[in-house]
Amino acid sequence: MRSEFKYVRTDSLQECLDFLSAHGLETEIMAGGTDLMISLRGGSLSPKFVLDISRLQEIRSIEKYRDFIKIGSNLTYSELINDTLLARTFPALHVAMGCVGSQQIRNVGTLGGNIANSSPAADSVPGMMIHEAEIMIQKADSTRIEKLEKLIVGPYSNTLTPDELITGILLRPVESNFKQSYRRIARRKSLSIARVNAAVLGSLNDSGCIEELRISVGSVAPTPLRMRQAENSIKGLRPEFKILQEASELVAKQIIDLVGARHSTEYKRPAIAGLVLKCLEDVLLDQN
Ligand SMILES: Cc1cc2nc3c(=O)[nH]c(=O)nc-3n(C[C@H](O)[C@H](O)[C@H](O)COP(=O)(O)OP(=O)(O)OC[C@H]3O[C@@H](n4cnc5c(N)ncnc54)[C@H](O)[C@@H]3O)c2cc1C
Repeated sequence: MRSEFKYVRTDSLQECLDFLSAHGLETEIMAGGTDLMISLRGGSLSPKFVLDISRLQEIRSIEKYRDFIKIGSNLTYSELINDTLLARTFPALHVAMGCVGSQQIRNVGTLGGNIANSSPAADSVPGMMIHEAEIMIQKADSTRIEKLEKLIVGPYSNTLTPDELITGILLRPVESNFKQSYRRIARRKSLSIARVNAAVLGSLNDSGCIEELRISVGSVAPTPLRMRQAENSIKGLRPEFKILQEASELVAKQIIDLVGARHSTEYKRPAIAGLVLKCLEDVLLDQN
């Protein structure tokens, strides 16, 4: 069933936040609309207002903010992918954004929408989690900054309240000796949701041992996750194939322990381990 709603567009961020303050409970925010339109068409959402934020210029820039690079939540994937600073600084996220949907979806879809939709399979989230992303969230009279890992609390569920708007994504750049990788398994190359996705970031010290390592896995648990136990299990060690293999198997074991064994476990366990292993190899075995 199609829902009837009033379309609203505001000219400034403050007007938008004031509108949410007054009508947030009966409003759905629309950025690119790629997720929202499906819910409106399908009738799973029937708001009184749809608030179009796509033209808000204040949340369409990339700038330095404290130790972070702040990405305006309203920039589209296509705009972000074409930004050379982002491509150079966040290569795993860059690859991840290129995997989203199709060119048409990337031309309108936004990172803010991907985060707020909070799908377990969101392509961008592992790529942001390895940069310990923090999310800037504003309402009419205040701003809060929440870690992405804490913001998403379950499938399609997060801590945003109806009067809040994601305005920026804060990503901490890493030194040039870090390497990054993003990989996914999906039915097809485009227009296909990831069955498993993973992002890895790491560096070696002067002795060739693993100094820093961050692993994030998506699509296989209620939310994308950082895999700290596996990270810590091999930090300080020389990155030999066998230990990378053990760490990837630990990731798969932890995921299966978390979600419980299912009919798909036979496929999922080697798929998770294999994908994480490839990312670890990209990052730790190819350090030229
Ligand atoms: C055909 C198709 C293929 C797709 N393929 C992929 C894929 O491969 N990988 C993937 O990760 N996703 C995929 N998606 C999902 C979607 O494109 C992404 O999640 C996209 O990033 C959503 O962004 P948007 O701007 O279109 O969000 P919208 O649809 O506008 O909004 C999504 C949700 O977020 C809320 N919202 C939007 N912006 C904000 C904000 N700034 N603050 C607070 N709340 C906000 C909206 O109210 C809504 O609930 C696909 C979608 C389609 C239709």
